Amino acid sequence: MDRFRLGTVRVHRIEEWRGGFAPPDHLFAGYEAAGWSPHAEEFTPDYFDPDSGRVYAFLQSWLIDTGHLRILFDTGAGNDKHRPDLPVFDHLATDFLGRLAAAGFAPEDIDVVVCSHVHVDHVGWNTRLIDGAWQPTFRNARYLLPLADRDYWDPLVTGIGPGGLGAAVNAGMFEDSVRPIMAAGRAEWVTDGFEVAPGVVLRARPGHTPGQMVMAVDGGDDRALFCGDVVHHPMQIYRPDWNSVFCEDAGQARETRRSVLDEAADSGALLVPAHFGGSHVARVLRDGTGFRPVLRAPR
Ligand SMILES: [Zn+2]
Repeated sequence: MDRFRLGTVRVHRIEEWRGGFAPPDHLFAGYEAAGWSPHAEEFTPDYFDPDSGRVYAFLQSWLIDTGHLRILFDTGAGNDKHRPDLPVFDHLATDFLGRLAAAGFAPEDIDVVVCSHVHVDHVGWNTRLIDGAWQPTFRNARYLLPLADRDYWDPLVTGIGPGGLGAAVNAGMFEDSVRPIMAAGRAEWVTDGFEVAPGVVLRARPGHTPGQMVMAVDGGDDRALFCGDVVHHPMQIYRPDWNSVFCEDAGQARETRRSVLDEAADSGALLVPAHFGGSHVARVLRDGTGFRPVLRAPR
């Protein structure tokens, strides 16, 4: 499922990477085998790779073409980035820009880049290495990033910021993927309710990071919630209390996950996460006091 429509809006999926990311008990904080087991068959092989024993995951960007604006939502891990504490994304050399071209777009065609949050696998293609320097990949674009993530992740700011796993896996990220955008005068730090275009609004949905944003797109006949890492895997639709180990504020992340699933279930909006395999999207249905996913492609 590489393209679909939301009413008048066209959406393209631009894939960067796919593979076994981590065993489920390493990815999910609060993992219990008794919670996973009933769904293991449903998740195999699209969302779980039985050979490696790892969650099968994707890095993918979403290109939203409103007819007036071309918006790129999340920019993956990027090529040539030094990530010693995250070997799976260390010095990648993918053909992401070739896949963008195959979808019909050059980097210069992108009007707006939105980073759902400032994490290593959502800001990578913000920049590329040219003549030994990190340069904006999308040189005509405004880059919209969540203000609440700026001071948290900027290593020049003291007093707050991540510790432990978040600090380790994101080491170097701000310097090679965010600061060059700021230096080029292309970064705009935005807050809840920012309107990217008519019918395209950014909502603050904190927890995974302090600034994580969901982009709500209303195409008239259909709508979607581009939700970044509010959910990493369909298991978290069954179990919204299961955070990833990368969620910075555990309680807030759970609360946000439930509220976004509530919104998707009540509105019928398509849920468009950053890392889902299979059809890469989901509808969310209520099931008793909880939820269950419908993992079919829209059309
Ligand atoms: Zn992510």
